[in-house]
Amino acid sequence: MWERDNEVCMDNITIQGKSGISRIMVGESLPALSRHIPATGVFIITDKNVAAHYHSEFPDFPVYVAEPGEESKDFAVMTKIWHWLLDQGADRSSFIVGIGGGVVCDLAGFVASTFMRGIPFGFVATSLLAQVDASVGGKNGVNLGGYKNIIGTFTQPEFVICDTSMLKTLPDGEFRNGMAEVIKHALIRDADKFDFLKNHRNEILNREREAINHIVNRSVNIKAGIVQADELERGERRLLNFGHTWGHAVEKENKIPHGQAVSIGMAFAASLSVHLGNLKETELNDIHLLLQEYKLPLNMELDKNRVFDTLLRDKKKEKDKMNFVLLKTIGKAFVKEMDTDVIKEFALTF
Ligand code: ADP
Ligand code: ZN
Repeated sequence: MWERDNEVCMDNITIQGKSGISRIMVGESLPALSRHIPATGVFIITDKNVAAHYHSEFPDFPVYVAEPGEESKDFAVMTKIWHWLLDQGADRSSFIVGIGGGVVCDLAGFVASTFMRGIPFGFVATSLLAQVDASVGGKNGVNLGGYKNIIGTFTQPEFVICDTSMLKTLPDGEFRNGMAEVIKHALIRDADKFDFLKNHRNEILNREREAINHIVNRSVNIKAGIVQADELERGERRLLNFGHTWGHAVEKENKIPHGQAVSIGMAFAASLSVHLGNLKETELNDIHLLLQEYKLPLNMELDKNRVFDTLLRDKKKEKDKMNFVLLKTIGKAFVKEMDTDVIKEFALTF
Protein backbone atom coordinates (compact mmCIF):
# COMPACT_ATOMS: atom_id res chain seq x y z
CA MET A 1 0.00 0.00 0.00
CA TRP A 2 1.26 3.44 -0.91
CA GLU A 3 0.95 6.28 1.56
CA ARG A 4 1.57 9.91 0.71
CA ASP A 5 3.75 11.32 3.44
CA ASN A 6 5.53 14.61 2.72
CA GLU A 7 5.51 13.62 -0.94
CA VAL A 8 7.46 10.49 -0.11
CA CYS A 9 6.00 7.21 -1.23
CA MET A 10 6.39 4.85 1.63
CA ASP A 11 5.64 1.21 1.22
CA ASN A 12 5.51 -1.23 4.11
CA ILE A 13 6.19 -4.86 3.46
CA THR A 14 5.98 -7.36 6.29
CA ILE A 15 7.58 -10.74 6.65
CA GLN A 16 6.22 -13.14 9.21
CA GLY A 17 9.29 -15.10 10.20
CA LYS A 18 9.81 -17.80 12.82
CA SER A 19 11.49 -15.26 15.07
CA GLY A 20 8.76 -12.63 14.66
CA ILE A 21 7.44 -10.00 12.30
CA SER A 22 9.83 -7.95 10.22
CA ARG A 23 8.64 -4.70 8.66
CA ILE A 24 10.48 -3.35 5.63
CA MET A 25 9.83 0.32 4.96
CA VAL A 26 10.85 1.49 1.51
CA GLY A 27 11.00 5.27 1.33
CA GLU A 28 11.15 5.82 5.10
CA SER A 29 13.99 8.15 6.08
CA LEU A 30 16.91 8.06 8.49
CA PRO A 31 15.68 11.13 10.40
CA ALA A 32 12.46 9.21 11.13
CA LEU A 33 14.40 6.34 12.72
CA SER A 34 13.61 7.45 16.26
CA ARG A 35 9.91 6.76 15.61
CA HIS A 36 10.70 3.09 15.25
CA ILE A 37 13.06 2.44 18.18
CA PRO A 38 12.69 2.50 21.96
CA ALA A 39 13.33 5.80 23.79
CA THR A 40 16.23 4.34 25.77
CA GLY A 41 18.72 1.46 25.66
CA VAL A 42 19.53 1.76 21.95
CA PHE A 43 23.00 1.02 20.55
CA ILE A 44 23.98 1.90 17.00
CA ILE A 45 26.48 0.06 14.80
CA THR A 46 27.73 1.68 11.61
CA ASP A 47 30.90 1.98 9.54
CA LYS A 48 33.30 4.86 8.90
CA ASN A 49 32.00 5.81 5.46
CA VAL A 50 28.38 5.91 6.51
CA ALA A 51 29.29 7.78 9.69
CA ALA A 52 31.26 10.33 7.65
CA HIS A 53 28.15 11.22 5.64
CA TYR A 54 25.32 10.73 8.12
CA HIS A 55 26.48 10.68 11.74
CA SER A 56 24.84 14.04 12.40
CA GLU A 57 21.46 12.57 11.45
CA PHE A 58 21.72 9.61 13.84
CA PRO A 59 19.54 9.68 16.97
CA ASP A 60 21.46 10.44 20.12
CA PHE A 61 22.67 6.99 21.30
CA PRO A 62 26.09 5.35 21.64
CA VAL A 63 27.61 4.50 18.23
CA TYR A 64 30.13 1.80 17.36
CA VAL A 65 31.95 2.72 14.14
CA ALA A 66 33.45 -0.31 12.36
CA GLU A 67 36.01 -0.28 9.56
CA PRO A 68 34.22 -0.47 6.19
CA GLY A 69 34.46 -3.66 4.19
CA GLU A 70 34.03 -7.40 4.32
CA GLU A 71 37.06 -7.83 6.62
CA SER A 72 34.92 -6.50 9.45
CA LYS A 73 32.70 -9.59 9.31
CA ASP A 74 35.17 -11.30 11.57
CA PHE A 75 35.13 -12.73 15.08
CA ALA A 76 37.76 -10.27 16.30
CA VAL A 77 35.37 -7.45 15.41
CA MET A 78 32.38 -9.26 16.93
CA THR A 79 34.30 -9.69 20.15
CA LYS A 80 35.11 -5.98 20.24
CA ILE A 81 31.45 -5.10 19.75
CA TRP A 82 30.24 -7.55 22.40
CA HIS A 83 32.74 -5.99 24.85
CA TRP A 84 31.70 -2.50 23.82
CA LEU A 85 28.05 -3.36 24.51
CA LEU A 86 28.91 -4.66 27.97
CA ASP A 87 31.06 -1.62 28.73
CA GLN A 88 28.22 0.65 27.64
CA GLY A 89 25.83 -1.13 29.98
CA ALA A 90 23.76 -2.95 27.37
CA ASP A 91 21.50 -5.66 28.73
CA ARG A 92 18.68 -7.97 27.76
CA SER A 93 16.31 -5.05 27.28
CA SER A 94 18.60 -3.20 24.86
CA PHE A 95 17.94 -2.64 21.17
CA ILE A 96 20.52 -2.61 18.38
CA VAL A 97 20.33 -0.61 15.16
CA GLY A 98 22.67 -1.24 12.25
CA ILE A 99 23.02 1.77 9.94
CA GLY A 100 24.95 0.86 6.83
CA GLY A 101 25.42 -1.53 3.94
CA GLY A 102 25.31 -5.30 3.89
CA VAL A 103 28.39 -5.64 6.06
CA VAL A 104 27.00 -3.47 8.84
CA CYS A 105 23.62 -5.23 8.65
CA ASP A 106 25.35 -8.61 8.98
CA LEU A 107 27.46 -7.38 11.89
CA ALA A 108 24.59 -5.76 13.73
CA GLY A 109 22.22 -8.68 13.11
CA PHE A 110 24.74 -11.25 14.24
CA VAL A 111 25.82 -9.31 17.31
CA ALA A 112 22.22 -8.67 18.31
CA SER A 113 21.03 -12.21 17.77
CA THR A 114 23.83 -13.63 19.93
CA PHE A 115 24.28 -11.00 22.66
CA MET A 116 22.58 -12.30 25.85
CA ARG A 117 21.05 -15.05 23.68
CA GLY A 118 19.49 -12.47 21.42
CA ILE A 119 18.13 -8.95 21.72
CA PRO A 120 15.88 -7.17 19.21
CA PHE A 121 17.37 -5.17 16.36
CA GLY A 122 16.57 -3.11 13.28
CA PHE A 123 18.40 -1.79 10.24
CA VAL A 124 18.71 1.38 8.25
CA ALA A 125 19.98 -0.13 4.99
CA THR A 126 22.11 2.46 3.20
CA SER A 127 23.52 0.63 0.15
CA LEU A 128 21.45 -0.59 -2.77
CA LEU A 129 22.67 -4.14 -2.16
CA ALA A 130 21.60 -3.98 1.48
CA GLN A 131 18.21 -2.49 0.60
CA VAL A 132 17.27 -5.07 -1.99
CA ASP A 133 19.13 -8.07 -0.68
CA ALA A 134 21.25 -8.25 2.46
CA SER A 135 18.84 -6.70 4.92
CA VAL A 136 15.82 -8.72 3.80
CA GLY A 137 15.44 -12.30 4.88
CA GLY A 138 16.86 -12.61 8.37
CA LYS A 139 20.21 -14.14 7.51
CA ASN A 140 23.06 -12.76 9.59
CA GLY A 141 26.47 -14.18 8.91
CA VAL A 142 30.13 -13.65 9.59
CA ASN A 143 33.19 -15.14 7.94
CA LEU A 144 35.59 -17.70 9.32
CA GLY A 145 38.97 -18.55 7.84
CA GLY A 146 38.11 -17.58 4.28
CA TYR A 147 34.62 -19.12 4.34
CA LYS A 148 31.98 -16.46 3.77
CA ASN A 149 28.96 -16.31 6.08
CA ILE A 150 29.77 -19.74 7.47
CA ILE A 151 28.79 -18.78 11.03
CA GLY A 152 25.47 -17.08 11.55
CA THR A 153 21.84 -17.03 12.52
CA PHE A 154 18.41 -16.84 10.94
CA THR A 155 16.82 -13.99 12.89
CA GLN A 156 14.60 -11.28 11.42
CA PRO A 157 15.20 -7.62 12.21
CA GLU A 158 12.12 -5.90 13.68
CA PHE A 159 12.32 -3.38 10.88
CA VAL A 160 14.37 -2.38 7.89
CA ILE A 161 14.33 1.24 6.77
CA CYS A 162 15.33 1.63 3.13
CA ASP A 163 16.11 5.33 2.84
CA THR A 164 16.66 5.58 -0.90
CA SER A 165 17.83 9.20 -0.67
CA MET A 166 20.97 7.89 1.06
CA LEU A 167 21.93 6.12 -2.16
CA LYS A 168 23.00 9.50 -3.57
CA THR A 169 26.31 9.23 -1.73
CA LEU A 170 26.92 5.58 -2.60
CA PRO A 171 30.04 5.11 -4.80
CA ASP A 172 29.22 4.18 -8.41
CA GLY A 173 30.74 0.70 -8.21
CA GLU A 174 28.66 -0.11 -5.15
CA PHE A 175 25.54 1.11 -6.91
CA ARG A 176 26.22 -1.19 -9.86
CA ASN A 177 26.76 -4.09 -7.45
CA GLY A 178 23.27 -3.55 -6.13
CA MET A 179 21.86 -3.26 -9.65
CA ALA A 180 23.05 -6.81 -10.38
CA GLU A 181 20.73 -8.12 -7.66
CA VAL A 182 17.91 -5.84 -8.84
CA ILE A 183 18.26 -7.27 -12.36
CA LYS A 184 18.37 -10.77 -10.86
CA HIS A 185 14.99 -10.21 -9.22
CA ALA A 186 13.53 -9.09 -12.53
CA LEU A 187 14.92 -12.12 -14.34
CA ILE A 188 13.68 -14.73 -11.89
CA ARG A 189 10.25 -13.29 -11.11
CA ASP A 190 9.22 -10.06 -12.72
CA ALA A 191 9.14 -9.42 -16.47
CA ASP A 192 7.44 -6.03 -15.88
CA LYS A 193 10.36 -4.97 -13.77
CA PHE A 194 12.70 -6.01 -16.56
CA ASP A 195 10.83 -3.64 -18.89
CA PHE A 196 10.92 -0.88 -16.29
CA LEU A 197 14.69 -1.27 -15.97
CA LYS A 198 14.98 -1.07 -19.75
CA ASN A 199 12.72 1.98 -20.12
CA HIS A 200 13.91 4.04 -17.14
CA ARG A 201 17.63 3.53 -17.31
CA ASN A 202 18.57 7.20 -17.11
CA GLU A 203 16.39 7.99 -14.12
CA ILE A 204 17.76 4.95 -12.33
CA LEU A 205 21.39 5.67 -13.14
CA ASN A 206 20.83 9.28 -12.01
CA ARG A 207 19.37 7.80 -8.83
CA GLU A 208 16.14 9.72 -9.10
CA ARG A 209 14.12 9.00 -6.06
CA GLU A 210 10.86 7.91 -7.63
CA ALA A 211 12.46 5.42 -10.02
CA ILE A 212 14.75 4.07 -7.31
CA ASN A 213 11.89 3.72 -4.85
CA HIS A 214 10.01 1.77 -7.49
CA ILE A 215 12.78 -0.72 -8.19
CA VAL A 216 13.76 -1.15 -4.53
CA ASN A 217 10.15 -1.70 -3.71
CA ARG A 218 9.67 -4.36 -6.39
CA SER A 219 12.86 -6.12 -5.33
CA VAL A 220 11.93 -6.13 -1.67
CA ASN A 221 8.51 -7.50 -2.58
CA ILE A 222 10.01 -10.30 -4.62
CA LYS A 223 12.62 -11.21 -2.04
CA ALA A 224 10.20 -10.90 0.87
CA GLY A 225 7.65 -13.06 -0.96
CA ILE A 226 10.17 -15.78 -1.58
CA VAL A 227 11.65 -15.60 1.91
CA GLN A 228 8.19 -15.66 3.47
CA ALA A 229 7.36 -18.82 1.59
CA ASP A 230 10.65 -20.45 2.46
CA GLU A 231 12.36 -18.84 5.41
CA LEU A 232 14.88 -21.57 6.03
CA GLU A 233 15.95 -21.94 2.41
CA ARG A 234 14.71 -25.37 1.53
CA GLY A 235 12.90 -24.80 -1.74
CA GLU A 236 11.85 -21.65 -3.54
CA ARG A 237 14.48 -19.51 -1.91
CA ARG A 238 16.99 -21.31 -4.10
CA LEU A 239 15.75 -19.22 -7.02
CA LEU A 240 17.52 -16.30 -5.39
CA ASN A 241 20.76 -18.11 -6.11
CA PHE A 242 20.30 -17.37 -9.79
CA GLY A 243 23.68 -16.27 -11.18
CA HIS A 244 25.38 -17.10 -7.89
CA THR A 245 26.70 -20.62 -8.54
CA TRP A 246 29.08 -19.67 -11.34
CA GLY A 247 29.20 -16.11 -9.96
CA HIS A 248 30.53 -17.05 -6.52
CA ALA A 249 33.22 -19.22 -8.05
CA VAL A 250 34.29 -16.35 -10.35
CA GLU A 251 34.23 -13.95 -7.41
CA LYS A 252 36.46 -16.21 -5.34
CA GLU A 253 38.86 -17.05 -8.13
CA ASN A 254 39.24 -13.53 -9.54
CA LYS A 255 38.60 -11.38 -6.47
CA ILE A 256 36.08 -9.13 -8.18
CA PRO A 257 33.12 -7.35 -6.52
CA HIS A 258 30.06 -9.47 -5.82
CA GLY A 259 27.76 -7.62 -8.21
CA GLN A 260 30.12 -7.99 -11.15
CA ALA A 261 30.55 -11.67 -10.41
CA VAL A 262 26.78 -12.15 -10.17
CA SER A 263 26.38 -10.38 -13.50
CA ILE A 264 28.82 -12.81 -15.13
CA GLY A 265 27.07 -15.65 -13.32
CA MET A 266 23.68 -14.52 -14.68
CA ALA A 267 25.06 -14.26 -18.21
CA PHE A 268 26.43 -17.78 -17.73
CA ALA A 269 23.17 -19.21 -16.41
CA ALA A 270 21.14 -17.47 -19.14
CA SER A 271 23.44 -18.83 -21.86
CA LEU A 272 23.23 -22.28 -20.32
CA SER A 273 19.45 -21.95 -20.36
CA VAL A 274 19.58 -21.23 -24.11
CA HIS A 275 22.01 -24.10 -24.62
CA LEU A 276 19.56 -26.47 -22.92
CA GLY A 277 16.66 -25.21 -25.03
CA ASN A 278 14.79 -23.37 -22.28
CA LEU A 279 15.38 -19.69 -22.98
CA LYS A 280 15.05 -17.99 -26.39
CA GLU A 281 18.18 -16.57 -27.98
CA THR A 282 16.45 -13.18 -28.43
CA GLU A 283 15.78 -13.05 -24.70
CA LEU A 284 19.42 -13.80 -23.99
CA ASN A 285 20.33 -10.83 -26.18
CA ASP A 286 17.91 -8.62 -24.23
CA ILE A 287 19.51 -9.75 -20.98
CA HIS A 288 23.00 -9.04 -22.30
CA LEU A 289 21.92 -5.60 -23.43
CA LEU A 290 20.37 -4.72 -20.08
CA LEU A 291 23.42 -5.83 -18.10
CA GLN A 292 25.64 -3.76 -20.37
CA GLU A 293 23.39 -0.73 -20.06
CA TYR A 294 23.93 -0.89 -16.32
CA LYS A 295 27.69 -1.22 -16.91
CA LEU A 296 27.82 -4.77 -15.67
CA PRO A 297 30.16 -7.35 -17.25
CA LEU A 298 29.00 -10.38 -19.25
CA ASN A 299 32.27 -12.25 -18.98
CA MET A 300 35.96 -11.80 -18.28
CA GLU A 301 39.32 -13.48 -18.75
CA LEU A 302 38.93 -16.67 -16.71
CA ASP A 303 40.70 -19.93 -16.09
CA LYS A 304 37.50 -21.95 -16.60
CA ASN A 305 38.93 -25.16 -15.19
CA ARG A 306 39.94 -23.45 -11.98
CA VAL A 307 36.62 -21.64 -11.67
CA PHE A 308 34.83 -24.93 -12.16
CA ASP A 309 36.94 -26.64 -9.47
CA THR A 310 36.14 -23.78 -7.10
CA LEU A 311 32.47 -24.18 -7.92
CA LEU A 312 32.59 -27.89 -7.03
CA ARG A 313 34.50 -27.22 -3.83
CA ASP A 314 31.97 -24.55 -2.86
CA LYS A 315 29.08 -26.93 -3.35
CA LYS A 316 30.70 -29.64 -1.21
CA LYS A 317 28.14 -32.01 -2.73
CA GLU A 318 28.13 -35.38 -4.41
CA LYS A 319 30.21 -34.47 -7.38
CA ASP A 320 28.14 -35.83 -10.22
CA LYS A 321 24.92 -33.83 -9.74
CA MET A 322 24.04 -30.33 -8.62
CA ASN A 323 21.09 -27.98 -8.55
CA PHE A 324 21.34 -25.10 -10.97
CA VAL A 325 18.95 -22.18 -11.37
CA LEU A 326 17.97 -21.62 -15.00
CA LEU A 327 15.53 -19.39 -16.89
CA LYS A 328 12.45 -20.51 -18.78
CA THR A 329 11.88 -17.00 -19.94
CA ILE A 330 12.59 -13.49 -18.68
CA GLY A 331 10.72 -13.35 -15.37
CA LYS A 332 10.58 -17.09 -14.79
CA ALA A 333 13.34 -19.13 -13.18
CA PHE A 334 13.40 -22.77 -12.16
CA VAL A 335 15.77 -25.17 -10.43
CA LYS A 336 17.14 -28.08 -12.38
CA GLU A 337 19.23 -30.94 -11.12
CA MET A 338 22.10 -31.25 -13.56
CA ASP A 339 25.06 -33.47 -14.22
CA THR A 340 28.16 -31.54 -13.25
CA ASP A 341 29.82 -32.87 -16.44
CA VAL A 342 27.25 -31.04 -18.55
CA ILE A 343 27.94 -27.80 -16.68
CA LYS A 344 31.66 -28.26 -17.03
CA GLU A 345 31.46 -28.96 -20.73
CA PHE A 346 29.40 -25.82 -21.19
CA ALA A 347 31.68 -23.78 -18.92
CA LEU A 348 34.68 -24.54 -21.11
CA THR A 349 32.91 -22.96 -24.07
CA PHE A 350 31.54 -19.96 -22.15
P1 ADP B 1 27.21 -4.10 0.63
O1 ADP B 1 27.60 -3.86 -0.78
O2 ADP B 1 26.94 -5.52 0.96
O3 ADP B 1 26.17 -3.20 1.09
P2 ADP B 1 29.11 -2.77 2.40
O4 ADP B 1 28.34 -2.74 3.63
O5 ADP B 1 30.56 -3.08 2.51
O6 ADP B 1 28.57 -3.85 1.39
O7 ADP B 1 28.90 -1.39 1.66
C1 ADP B 1 29.64 -1.09 0.51
C2 ADP B 1 30.46 0.19 0.70
O8 ADP B 1 29.61 1.32 0.57
C3 ADP B 1 31.14 0.31 2.04
O9 ADP B 1 32.40 0.89 1.86
C4 ADP B 1 30.22 1.24 2.81
O10 ADP B 1 30.92 1.96 3.80
C5 ADP B 1 29.72 2.15 1.71
N1 ADP B 1 28.40 2.73 1.91
C6 ADP B 1 27.26 2.10 2.29
N2 ADP B 1 26.22 2.93 2.26
C7 ADP B 1 26.67 4.13 1.84
C8 ADP B 1 26.06 5.40 1.56
N3 ADP B 1 24.74 5.59 1.67
N4 ADP B 1 26.87 6.40 1.15
C9 ADP B 1 28.21 6.20 0.98
N5 ADP B 1 28.82 5.04 1.20
C10 ADP B 1 28.08 4.01 1.62
ZN1 ZN C 1 24.21 -11.82 -4.20
